[in-house]
Amino acid sequence: MLAGEQNFKDIVLNPLPWYEENGIHLHLGKTISRIDRTRRVVVTDDGTEARYDCLLIATGSTPFILPVPGKDLKGVITYRDICDTEIMIETARVRRRAVLIGGGLLGLEAANGLKLRGMDVAVVHLADTLLERQRDATAGTLLQQSLQERGLSFPMGKSTTGIVDNGSGEVGAVRFKDGEEIPADLVVMAAGIRPNSALAESAGLHCNRGIVVGNTLQTYDPRIYAVGECVSHRGVAYGLVAPLFEQARVCANHLALMGIGTYKGSVSSTRLKVTGIDLFSVSDFLGGDGTEEIVLSDPASGAYRKLVIKEGKLVGACLYGGPTEPGTSSCCARAASSANCAITSCSARPASATSARSSTTSSTGRHRTVAPPAASRSTTTWSRPGSWSRACCTACSTRSTLRHCARWSGPVAWSAS
Ligand SMILES: Cc1cc2nc3c(=O)[nH]c(=O)nc-3n(C[C@H](O)[C@H](O)[C@H](O)COP(=O)(O)OP(=O)(O)OC[C@H]3O[C@@H](n4cnc5c(N)ncnc54)[C@H](O)[C@@H]3O)c2cc1C
Repeated sequence: MLAGEQNFKDIVLNPLPWYEENGIHLHLGKTISRIDRTRRVVVTDDGTEARYDCLLIATGSTPFILPVPGKDLKGVITYRDICDTEIMIETARVRRRAVLIGGGLLGLEAANGLKLRGMDVAVVHLADTLLERQRDATAGTLLQQSLQERGLSFPMGKSTTGIVDNGSGEVGAVRFKDGEEIPADLVVMAAGIRPNSALAESAGLHCNRGIVVGNTLQTYDPRIYAVGECVSHRGVAYGLVAPLFEQARVCANHLALMGIGTYKGSVSSTRLKVTGIDLFSVSDFLGGDGTEEIVLSDPASGAYRKLVIKEGKLVGACLYGGPTEPGTSSCCARAASSANCAITSCSARPASATSARSSTTSSTGRHRTVAPPAASRSTTTWSRPGSWSRACCTACSTRSTLRHCARWSGPVAWSAS
């Protein structure tokens, strides 16, 4: 919506009549203030009560607000709901300078949207590269360059110590630890989220950075389940939709008394929603000891592809820019999350493969095979790949090229001529 690519109607999950048609009694505009576990009722702030046999908590999370002076000034907001979006759209009509605190997925999407709406946008980030938890440094740097070309600026490695009043109770600037200040008419804090577990905690449910649930999404009270961003499952709180759908599927199974599903955690993949920038990563995209990396770097087309392989299996991927084919990222996501999938006989053909560096590389006639090294980390780099013959991903039947995909189950091989 902020980027002007969708309107409110496009992002609503279900229209209001859907709830009635599906036998769901919807209480709009009410906040649940208490769970009475003894009487098995929930109580809203206006005193309405609803009884339950089983209760599902899905209270989401709240944005983290930096505890700095000036955080309550007019013009300082977070990015969570439709009101925040409307404030940003409205402010962009009448003001010029926006500062985003946090160069994560949400911060960058907001920055891009505000830029498209005509604001001068600076993204303040504590780390030295953007999206450091979702991308490797190379992809982060390429992304930053691309966004700079669109006119965004990036004060990097900056720690915010305060928001400065413009003299009228509104935001006027953002101040950093090194004393520098940058002017701002709007400050958007996109510095992370915290599970919204206060309601559960006040009802005496066990919480630890989220409502603690087991593999059936059940809390410590057998009648109460929880899913979504409010949950801590095996110590992990997820902040993306896909894992939450997986949780919901298992939970629904148990609420319907089928009792056969278990949730064992999710492999998260992320994609930046900025039109014109294709950036995707999944699972262990950084690699480490005992992994092999296949890196395709083609600065001419702005493409960067990294596959991380461990013990013959694809365990992570990071894809940035360049030509893409439909299904590429979902193919990698499935492959990296599948316990049984590995890479085999990828028949891609680098016309001018320049350096294939691997301690266990062997040549076998028209095919060179790179077997993942036993205990060390190695990288095979093809800078400027030429033409690639096509391969087929057996994990999802997607036809693709090695730029995007391979056939997953065994050592990697490619045609040398
Ligand atoms: C701007 C934005 C863009 C995003 N884009 C993506 C994306 O592209 N892809 C992706 O995977 N994820 C994205 N996310 C994250 C995704 O939206 C969340 O992970 C997901 O919505 C979390 O679902 P949830 O049901 O746990 O919580 P929510 O969707 O936050 O729902 C929780 C609901 O509970 C209500 N609630 C809380 N407490 C109470 C109470 N006491 N009484 C009554 N109601 C209460 C809240 O008002 C809220 O409506 C985005 C998030 C934001 C903010």
